[in-house]
Amino acid sequence: MNHFSTEYQQQRAWVNINHQALINNVQALKSLLNPHTQLMAVIKADAYGHGAVKVAQTILQSGVDSLAIATLPEGIELREAGIVVPIMILGAINSIEQVKDIVEYNLEPTLCTPHQASIFVETLAQLNATLPVHLKLDTGMSRLGTHWHNAVDFVQYIQQFPQLQLASIYSHLATADDVDTSVTKLQHSRFEEAISALKASGIKIPRLHLANSAGTLLDRTLHYDMVRVGLALYGISPAPHLKDKVKLQPALEVKARITQIKTLSPGTGVSYGHTFKCDRSTTIAVVGIGYADGIPRLLSNKMKVIIRGKFAQQIGNITMDQLMLNVSNFSDLEVGEVVTLLGKEGDLEVTADDWASSIGTISWEILCSFKHRLPRVVI
Ligand SMILES: *Cc1c(COP(=O)(O)O)cnc(C)c1O
Repeated sequence: MNHFSTEYQQQRAWVNINHQALINNVQALKSLLNPHTQLMAVIKADAYGHGAVKVAQTILQSGVDSLAIATLPEGIELREAGIVVPIMILGAINSIEQVKDIVEYNLEPTLCTPHQASIFVETLAQLNATLPVHLKLDTGMSRLGTHWHNAVDFVQYIQQFPQLQLASIYSHLATADDVDTSVTKLQHSRFEEAISALKASGIKIPRLHLANSAGTLLDRTLHYDMVRVGLALYGISPAPHLKDKVKLQPALEVKARITQIKTLSPGTGVSYGHTFKCDRSTTIAVVGIGYADGIPRLLSNKMKVIIRGKFAQQIGNITMDQLMLNVSNFSDLEVGEVVTLLGKEGDLEVTADDWASSIGTISWEILCSFKHRLPRVVI
């Protein structure tokens, strides 16, 4: 066991991160790629709640080529932990102070507009520094980036400045997880159109990339020189119809302990608002985890947990720090027993997808909600 061991034996709730699962997922994903295609791991938002530094250390030993994060502090955290591979910032950086930090920490920004590029050039000139930059084209996501029609102008603008080294050109898919692939095809053809226009203008084409997890699973022609994989790395398929493309194993489990057990008489209401009322004598277990830990409150009365290899129904409103279970079907449960909220026990499994579909959201949001208060245990 690691040094969390003693502390973790006493925890009311925690997250297990299975690093072997991360390694298996990297290898499974790499098996989909052409040998020349690089794998960039997207570890923004603290590696989707899995712990960015530790995840990076593990996956860089198993074949990941580079990393992507969303914000400057996320990049600085990785550099301060001694990570030396290329780190691309996916978000837009617009302030001079941030440009200075990017240089100092050797991070690689995304440039979305000529104006943004000009802010970089001015600061880089003052610092007498150069920087690898990644140009973002908007081919249909309608988020960051320059319209694909203007790719040539944008690249030519960048190329007049020796401070900016064009490291890659990329775009982002909006609906690659959709069964209907028409928008993805349209974005793919727009990206191709932009590349053709760049070639026709005599521009030397740098590294190109387009695919997120869904694009990576969907079709090799979307892979180009690199894929930017987030969700699939953590073992979750971006869509049910892409599940069979490769075997992925969820890396995150959520566990908590029973803190009290009691039997309630018929008619007794449970938790705030009494949204659950016992219709018979009901034994409940109180569990030390709540919405402040990342369990969505919308799952109240809708989620099942696993105890001793059996499902137990959650009842009543989930509270900030605690939730209740109906454990009438269990005998001899004890305070201190461990409950699996997300994860696998024997043949039973509860996934982030199960939660997401119960409450109308996506597994990405479920994963990145386990934040500050839950210790992470590497298993
Ligand atoms: C978050 C993000 C990704 C990773 O997306 P997944 O669906 O989690 O694989 C890739 N590219 C960009 C630009 C992103 O913002």
